[in-house]
Amino acid sequence: MTNTQFQQLWVCFGQAVSKHKDELNQLDAAIGDADHGTNLDRGLQQVLEKMQAASPATLQATCKLVAMTLLSTVGGASGALWGSGLLAAAKVFPDTDTCDDKTLTQAIQAFVDSIEQRGKAVVGDKTMLDVFVPALSSLAQDAEPITVVVPEIAAHAKEWAEATASLQAKKGRAAYLGPRSVGHIDPGATSSALWWQCLGRIIGG
Ligand code: ADP
Ligand code: MG
Ligand code: MG
Repeated sequence: MTNTQFQQLWVCFGQAVSKHKDELNQLDAAIGDADHGTNLDRGLQQVLEKMQAASPATLQATCKLVAMTLLSTVGGASGALWGSGLLAAAKVFPDTDTCDDKTLTQAIQAFVDSIEQRGKAVVGDKTMLDVFVPALSSLAQDAEPITVVVPEIAAHAKEWAEATASLQAKKGRAAYLGPRSVGHIDPGATSSALWWQCLGRIIGG
């Protein structure tokens, strides 16, 4: 992946979240505080502005800029989780323009590890991890090149997000609802699926 592709990923994600902002807020209204779309949209619009102004020249610099911007502007659980996860990923990305497939997988692994450590959630807790963990295991196990695997993951991401409806939330605001959280799709899993769809589009060409 090149730095240009990585920046295109954030442009795509910003556009997707903006387009689905109301839907993400509505999902959060059912089991949280109705701000997930607004939170992420605010942060990603700032990311796009800062990326244009600073034009970070390496994968590491871009990842750091996105992380710091999301940490300082998103607020809420998702801001802290995306921000700290991306700071961990930035340590894996090289301070150069391009990385190989293995490094990209390792960066996403560092992102997921950091979110697991920080949020103490596991698969099945009805969070963004219910999309990121199965996606990462496909990426890490698959023998095919990521130009093939990532679009396949992108095609399944929405199903993984929708499957969170049957789960009871164990972490975040939705956990306060206990069994009443069942029957609703997790907003953070839904926005995470949008991220994978963008990565699929950008890597798949
Ligand atoms: P807040 O809950 O603070 O309003 P958001 O609405 O922006 O923050 O984000 C909520 C999303 O964050 C949830 O849908 C869930 O996917 C994710 N989330 C919340 N807590 C955790 C956690 N401990 N680990 C992983 N993801 C979490
Ligand atoms: Mg919320
Ligand atoms: Mg909130």
